[in-house]
Amino acid sequence: MNQPLILIIEDEEALRRFLIPTLSGQRYQVLSAATATEGLAMARSHNPDLVLLDLGLPDRDGMDVLKELRSWSRKPVVILSARNQERDKVQALDQGADDYLAKPFGAAELLARIRVALRHTLPTEVTEPVVCGGGLRIDLAQREVSLEGRIVKLTALEYRLLEALVRRNGKVATHRQLLAEVWGPGGEGNTHYLRIYMAMLRKKLEVDPTRPRHFITEPNVGYRLSLEALGD
Ligand code: CA
Repeated sequence: MNQPLILIIEDEEALRRFLIPTLSGQRYQVLSAATATEGLAMARSHNPDLVLLDLGLPDRDGMDVLKELRSWSRKPVVILSARNQERDKVQALDQGADDYLAKPFGAAELLARIRVALRHTLPTEVTEPVVCGGGLRIDLAQREVSLEGRIVKLTALEYRLLEALVRRNGKVATHRQLLAEVWGPGGEGNTHYLRIYMAMLRKKLEVDPTRPRHFITEPNVGYRLSLEALGD
């Protein structure tokens, strides 16, 4: 079986010491670099299937590394960010990173995010015509949505927002990305619309809208759609 190759670009030695055995213990091959320069050289020579990228690197900004990677690679990049790098994290997602993990994070969460990121290389890649899970069923071909077997009517904007989330396959979508995709160019400033429409989707498509299981808020970043059947 072909084992995916993961490149870790992270200067914190303690974190590398946690990441390397955690990933090697699964089905992954692992390479690691402690600087941006070394990381980019390894990315070029090994073309990894996924890159775990720290934003705060000693020699160059992690954002530069992302830009350089994105100039030739569409492979998934998962950002490792410290809490005080909120703005950078959002910018990285807007610039083509696939996901982020806020430090500190646990092994289970790391592995789950890696699985999601590896599932599809491109966030915009067309998914299956029908996606379902956790009682929710979305038929992208028929544009039909149901909750627990009951058809739910959505407005055009609600559906467009849902579709934008579905097409990311569980990856986070930033506020800016959703606003641009749903409301079109120039819509990026209307974050309150997003909140209103998200509340409507939750009202229609969550069993308990006050405890959303599908439409997950990523604080200060955006939203992701989870179709995992939790606690059923
Ligand atoms: Ca760092």
